[in-house]
This record gives sequence, structure tokens and C-alpha cells, in this order.
Amino acid sequence: MEKEHEKRGHAPDIHSKTVIELHDVWKTYKMGESALNALKGINLKVKEGDFISIQGPSGSGKSTLMNLIGCLDLPDRGKIILEGNDIEKLSESRLAIIRGRHIGFVFQAFNLVQTLNALENVALPTFFQQISEKERTQRAAEILKRVGLEKRMRHTPMQLSGGEQQRVAIARALINNPPIILADEPTGNLDSRTGHEIMHLLVELHLKYNKTIVIVTHDPFIAKYAHKRINIVDGQIFHDHVLEKRFLWSENSNNSNNKRF
Ligand code: ADP
Ligand code: MG
Repeated sequence: MEKEHEKRGHAPDIHSKTVIELHDVWKTYKMGESALNALKGINLKVKEGDFISIQGPSGSGKSTLMNLIGCLDLPDRGKIILEGNDIEKLSESRLAIIRGRHIGFVFQAFNLVQTLNALENVALPTFFQQISEKERTQRAAEILKRVGLEKRMRHTPMQLSGGEQQRVAIARALINNPPIILADEPTGNLDSRTGHEIMHLLVELHLKYNKTIVIVTHDPFIAKYAHKRINIVDGQIFHDHVLEKRFLWSENSNNSNNKRF
């Protein structure tokens, strides 16, 4: 079992399918008279089975890039291909359907609905689907169990720790079973130990459930979980490489979840 996971944990080979592709992508924010080039000619491929980290200083364009990778925004120049579709040529509703099917989002600030409990938050993205309330609740409960929150299903965000809230947010990202998870600074609001626990959950999703994962972080220790690391400075990729070995666990941790995946 362990061996099997280790095998699948390696960087995908060059023949893996490309799921998201950015070609010479530019993004400019216009504010009054001035214009700010947040992204300047980004080329990037996300392949099936990738675990990519995007690292860079504050203001370097990480979130802008993540929004474009997630097709939440359109570029000013260049092309974005999602599952073979040029997103500019899709209607907004068609894009929303394809995006919803393929991508789950996780944010730094969790973005949970404060008045809903964990179960209801996780079930939320299924609301517009033709499935019964019973099935919706069952699915949400199953996924909360998968992220280790079976005892917290009726808690509201206020009654959960930061780490637990991020687990709920990850469960919500998983509810429609997307093959790709995009996480913008998922550990940014967490203490270091909880941050590593969240990374372990993402590694588990990558290895056990074959999720393709892209995370944004400014923390080099978090970036080390990925097998492909991209550095962005001032809106440009200046370095990317594939690591041979992933950082799996900090040596001085005594957490009982300490597993090698
Ligand atoms: P990061 O996530 O790396 O901190 P961002 O992608 O959020 O960087 O921002 C990149 C640059 O674009 C920054 O200079 C930021 O101030 C600017 N920026 C981001 N979003 C907007 C916006 N909606 N309007 C104007 N400028 C923006
Ligand atoms: Mg950001």
C-alpha cells in the first residue's frame, strides 16, 4: 500500500495530460491614469498528477496568477486553455460549468459562511445540482470524515480552530470531486504546525485520490511539499524546476499523524 502511494507520489512523466495551460499571459490592473502590469508573459503548464508550488514575495502576482490558472479571471493578453478549451471562447455559464467540474478552490482566509455549520458549508457547492438533500448531506458527511472532522460536523466556523476551518474549506473544495485543487496561501493564517498538518492532508489527497494540486505560498518550507516549484517575482516566472525528492515531514515534529506518504 505504502509503496503504491510512493510510486504515485513522484512527478508525473512527460506524457501526462496537460489540464491547464497558460500561453504568454499578461494581466494589467488599471487604476485611473496608471496601469500596473501584475503578470508579464507567463507560460505555464499544469499536468495531470502535478503538485506545484508557486512561491514569491508579497505583491509579486501570485494571487493574480492563481485566479487565472483557476479561470476565475481572463488575461489581457495571451491564452488560457482549460481541459482543451480556450476559455476566452466559452460563454460565462459554460466556463462556470467546466470550472466547477474540474477545479476546487481553497483560500487563505477559509471563506466559510459563518452562519452555516461545517456540514452545510461543505454541501453548499452542490446546491444548484439535481441531487436530493439527503444525498447532499451524506456526501458532505463522508468528505468531512475523510478530512478528519467527523466529530465537528455541526460546529459553525466560530466553534472551530483555524486548522479545522481550513479542513472544512478543503472538504468543500472536494465535494464535487474535481481532479484539480488550487490553494492560495492555504497555510497563511495558520501556525506552523497546523500549516504542516494541512499540507499533509493535501499530500494525502494528491497521493491517495490522485488530485492535481497547485498551491501558492511565500513560505519555502511549505513550498517544499511540491515536486514542481515555480518562483515568481514582479509578475514573471524566473525559475522553475522539478525536485527529485519531496520534503515530507519536519524532523522535530512529534505529531501522531506523522506518516510518510
Ligand atoms: P501576491 O498574491 O503575490 O501578493 P497579487 O497578485 O495579489 O500579489 O498582486 C500583484 C500586484 O497587483 C500587486 O502590486 C497588487 O497591489 C496589484 N493588484 C492586485 N489586485 C489588484 C486589483 N484588483 N486592482 C489593482 N491592483 C491590484
Ligand atoms: Mg496573494
